[in-house]
Amino acid sequence: TGIWQNVPEAPPDAILGIAAAYKACEHPQKVNICVGAYRDDNGNPYVLPTVRKAEYRLLEQNEVKEYLPIEGDRDFVYCAMKFAYGREMDIENHVAAVQSLSGTGACMLGGQFLAQFWGSDHPIYVPNPTWGNHIKIFKQCGLKVRKYRYYDRSKNALDFEGMLKDIKRAKDGSIILLHACAHNPTGCDPTMEQWKEIVSLISSKSHIAFFDSAYQGFATGNSEKDAQAFRYAVSQHVPILLAQSFAKNFGLYGERVGTLSIVCGDVVQKERIMSELRSIIRPLYSSPPRHGSSIVKTILMDPALKEEYYQECAKMAIRIKKMRKKLEEALQVAGSIHDWSHITKQIGMFAYTGMDEAMCKQLTEEFSIFLTTNGRISMVGLNNSNLTYVANAIHTVTA
Ligand code: PMP
Repeated sequence: TGIWQNVPEAPPDAILGIAAAYKACEHPQKVNICVGAYRDDNGNPYVLPTVRKAEYRLLEQNEVKEYLPIEGDRDFVYCAMKFAYGREMDIENHVAAVQSLSGTGACMLGGQFLAQFWGSDHPIYVPNPTWGNHIKIFKQCGLKVRKYRYYDRSKNALDFEGMLKDIKRAKDGSIILLHACAHNPTGCDPTMEQWKEIVSLISSKSHIAFFDSAYQGFATGNSEKDAQAFRYAVSQHVPILLAQSFAKNFGLYGERVGTLSIVCGDVVQKERIMSELRSIIRPLYSSPPRHGSSIVKTILMDPALKEEYYQECAKMAIRIKKMRKKLEEALQVAGSIHDWSHITKQIGMFAYTGMDEAMCKQLTEEFSIFLTTNGRISMVGLNNSNLTYVANAIHTVTA
C-alpha cells in the first residue's frame, strides 16, 4: 500500500555517510581519518584489557540480566560521579545523577530537563564550531540554539575575546554549553586561566554551564586534569549540568554508558530533580542497558583494576600525542612550508588542520583519504603504516 509515499528522504548523517563510502572504496591505500573511535597501531579497533577482565569477572559471577532501576545502576552512578567530580565532592547531598545512553543520551536528558524546568525561552549557546549533534539534540529538546565564537580559523587558535564577548552579550540566565576538554572538532581548549575568566563571567551573568565531558582522561592521559574546568566551576558555585560519556576513555562506544548529573543545593532539591529525571526517562526507554555500566563499575570499584585502567587510558592519550608530533614532522619532510604547529598544540582525538572543503574533497577523490569536509582529521585513524601516505597527500592538496 502507498500510505507512506509522502514520507520524504531525510538528509544522510554526514559522518556515517563517510564511513560507508570508506567501506565501499577499493583503493589499496585507503585511509579513514574520519573515524571517532580509537584504533591501535595496526588500525584495528581496541578493547581495553581491563574491560575484558571485568567482562570475565561478570561472567564468572553469573551476572543476571534483570532490569536496572529507571535511573540506572546506583553503584555505577556513584563511581562515575567520584570519577567526574573528585573524591571530595559530596555526591549524596549535592549531585542528582542518572545513568544515560552514553554522552548523546546525557545531552538529550539535560536538554529536556532544561527545556522543562529552566524554560525554553532561555537559549542554549554552543561553541562555533561544535560537535554537530549538539545542535540537533538541543533543537529537538525545544531549546533555542545559538552560537558563541570559539575558534579563529585564520589563526588556528581559540577566539577567546570573541567567546567572552558573546557569553557577555547573551541575555542573563542563558545556558552555555562547554566542552569539558578535548574540544570536538577543534582540539583546542581554553587554558586554566581562561577557564577561570569564563566561569567568572558565567557566574556574573547568572548563566547555567552545561559541560559535555566526552573525553575525561583521554585528552591529557590524566582524568583528574581533564576534569579541572567543571570542577573549578563547581567550586565557584556556578550551576552546572554535566553530560559524561564512557565511550572514548573506556573504549565502550557501542555499550552506551554515560551519566547526566546536575549539581544542586541540598538533598531535597536532589530528590526532586531525580524524580523529574525518572519521569523523563521512563517513557523514553524505561531503563538503561546494564552491561557497559557493570563493566565500568567493576573497574572503578576495584583499586587494582582501576589503577591498571588509568595506565591503559594514559597509553591511548600518549599514542595520540605521538602521532601528532609524527604528523607535523612528516608534513615538513614532505616539503610543506606551512606552519603546522597547531597540530601538536591541539589535544584529544581530533586535529583541526585548517584545510578547506575543496582540499578535503581532493584528499578523498584523489587519494581515497576519507575525512569530514571541515578539515578535521581523526588522530586515531593515523598509524605508522599510513602516516607518510597521508602527510604527502595533505602536502599535495595544501601546497
Ligand atoms: N559530545 C562530544 C563532544 C562528542 O565528541 C561525542 C562523541 N563523538 C559525544 C558527546 C557523545 O558520544 P557518545 O554518545 O558515543 O558518548
